[in-house]
Amino acid sequence: MPGALALSSALRAQLRQARRVCVLTGAGASAESGIPTFREAQSGLWARYDPLELATPEAFDRDPALVWTWYRWRRTLVQAAQPNAGHVALAALANRVPELTLITQNVDGLHQQAGSRDIVEFHGNLFVNRCADPACAQETAAICEAEVPRCPHCGDRLRPGVVWFGEAIPGHALQRAQSATEHCDVFISVGTSASVWPAAGLIGAAADAGATVIDINPHETELSATCAHRLIAKSARALPELVDCFARSA
Ligand code: NAD
Repeated sequence: MPGALALSSALRAQLRQARRVCVLTGAGASAESGIPTFREAQSGLWARYDPLELATPEAFDRDPALVWTWYRWRRTLVQAAQPNAGHVALAALANRVPELTLITQNVDGLHQQAGSRDIVEFHGNLFVNRCADPACAQETAAICEAEVPRCPHCGDRLRPGVVWFGEAIPGHALQRAQSATEHCDVFISVGTSASVWPAAGLIGAAADAGATVIDINPHETELSATCAHRLIAKSARALPELVDCFARSA
């Protein structure tokens, strides 16, 4: 029986037969958990600041206390949030297909909380601190009471363990994401504006490699035209129904 997403029978058949699946999530996948996307975050307390300008190495060099205050606010916001039905559906997808690679641009840890494992965290994790000195780069747990916390190993400044705009993606995350993208049968992009690179490039790379590409987003993005199937819907609504179309593994 066709569901509310009105997927074609051809697409349903492709999903049933899929063996290697790759999913790329962005900030929109956590929007229904109450975590604002960067565009939505430009209100209230932070209306004066552009998040795209706070999440940079230059902003940290200029005013580390301001950047830490913003990241503490984001941690508090995320700590109060719960995974939504979209996160839960993606955790269940791991049991329905032989090979699933979940790549997230999100730093909130909600996929892990929903039960997903072995996630490619493309942009790091909000709850990790890393030494700002690249020669040290030790990571520590995210307890930091000082205005600008210090590295327990070398005494330099600690920074949030995320990838900022203008910084390189960690090599292992990039390699895993690219390899999974090039070898998958089905690629699902969820809640991303496809404006942050190189993550956005994975969508075109999957299409070029012959995967069936599905985009879940209530709004059009720069790369919507690249996607063979556009589901104009919110992720917590669309993902449970989409995941249900994949065959359960024996
Ligand atoms: P983005 O903010 O650029 O775009 C969000 C996209 O999600 C938009 O296209 C919007 O139309 C869509 N969207 C909004 N609500 C949705 C919903 N309920 N279901 C599906 N789609 C929905 O996000 P981006 O492309 O991920 O890039 C922004 C960068 O900011 C990334 O690096 C990301 O890591 C970071 N970020 C992360 C978080 C988080 O960890 N939760 C939050 C904000 C920003």
